[in-house]
Amino acid sequence: MTAFTTMLEHIPLYDHHAHALYHEPLWRAAPLGAYFTEAYDPVILEHFVSDTLFYRRSLRDLAELYSCEPNQEGVQQARLSRDYAALCTELFQRSNIGHLLIDDGFWPDRLWTVEQSREHLPVPIRRVVRSETELQELLPFYDSVGALLDALEERLREAGKNAAGFKSIIAYRTGLEISRPTAHELEHSFQRARKQGGKLLDKPLLDAALWRTLRIAADLDLPVQFHTGYGDPDLDLRLADPLNLRSVIEAPELRTLKLVLLHCYPFVREAGYLASVYSGVYLDLGLTIPYTSVAAMKTALHEALHLSPISKLLISTDAQRTPELFWLAARWARRTLGTALEQTVQDGDLTSIEAEWAAERVLWSNAAELYPETATKSP
Ligand SMILES: [Zn+2]
Repeated sequence: MTAFTTMLEHIPLYDHHAHALYHEPLWRAAPLGAYFTEAYDPVILEHFVSDTLFYRRSLRDLAELYSCEPNQEGVQQARLSRDYAALCTELFQRSNIGHLLIDDGFWPDRLWTVEQSREHLPVPIRRVVRSETELQELLPFYDSVGALLDALEERLREAGKNAAGFKSIIAYRTGLEISRPTAHELEHSFQRARKQGGKLLDKPLLDAALWRTLRIAADLDLPVQFHTGYGDPDLDLRLADPLNLRSVIEAPELRTLKLVLLHCYPFVREAGYLASVYSGVYLDLGLTIPYTSVAAMKTALHEALHLSPISKLLISTDAQRTPELFWLAARWARRTLGTALEQTVQDGDLTSIEAEWAAERVLWSNAAELYPETATKSP
C-alpha cells in the first residue's frame, strides 16, 4: 500500500447506510457463503457463490484477520471460536467507523434493534426510517386510504424527530418511476392491497405514500435514501435505474429535498450525472463496494467522479448480519478510494493536496454534513 492509502486508514468512515447485526445464535448458525451474495437461490448459494471474486478475495482477507488457513473450514472454525460481543467491538474499532446510521427495516426479527446495536457497538448510532415498512405495518388498521396516509404522516413526523433520515425501498416493490395516482386509482389500489394482504406491491398506493414521505422529509429537512441499482432478485433491475426518479427530482414542492442514491451499480455513471446537474442529488457506492471485483470497485469510483462533484459522493458499508462485512467494506472503501484518487493525481485532475481533501470528504465530511446531528433531537 502507498503512503496515501495508508493515510486513509486514519480517516474515520461515516457509515451512513447499514443494517444491524444478527442475534448471536443466528450468527453462529449462519453459513459463511450467504454473506457474500445477494442471491437466495439455494443452487447459487451451494455451488456458485464460492466462485465469485468477492468470495475468493474475502476468504483471504478473513484468513489474514484470523491468522488461519485461507479456506472455508479454516475461516469458519476461527471465527466461531471467537466471543461474539468482543469480535463485534474489535471489528468496529479496526474499521474505524466513527458514526453509524442503521436502517432497521431489514429483517427486524433476526437482527438487533437500534437500541440493542447501541448497547453492543462502540460507535454513535442513529436510525434511518424505512417508509414502506411503516406503511405496511399500518395498512391492516385503517379503513380508508386517507386515514392510512394521515397515520403514516403522523408516524413519520414522530419518528423523524430522532432519525437521521428516511429510506425508500420502492425499487424493490414497483420501481423508481413514481407516478401521481388519481384519487380513483388510489382508492382501488388501497382496496386491492387490503384484500390481498401479504407484501404490499400495489403501485398507486406505494407511490402516493412515497410522495407523502418525501414532503415530510422536505419539511423536516431530512435526507431520503433510495435503494437504486442492484440488490437481491426481489427487485427488477430495469426499474432500479435512478434515471427513473426524474419526476421526484424535478417536483417543484421538493426543491429543497436531499436524495441519496444508494449502491447505484451498474448505473454509477447515470447517478453521477444526476448528482452533477441536480443540487439535491447525492450518490453512494455502498454494496458496490465490497461486493464486486477490485477492478469494478475502482471503476465505480472513477465513473462516479466522471461528473459528480467530490462533495456529493459517499461510501457506506451497507453491511448487515455479521461484523466482518463492516470490516471488509471499510477496508475496500479506503483501499479503492485511495487508488482511484491517486489516479486522479496522475491524470492531473487533482493535486495531491486536493486528493487528501477529497478522501476526507468522501469518507467522512460529505455524510456528516448531509445528516447533521443538530437537525435531530437525540434521546
Ligand atoms: Zn441496505
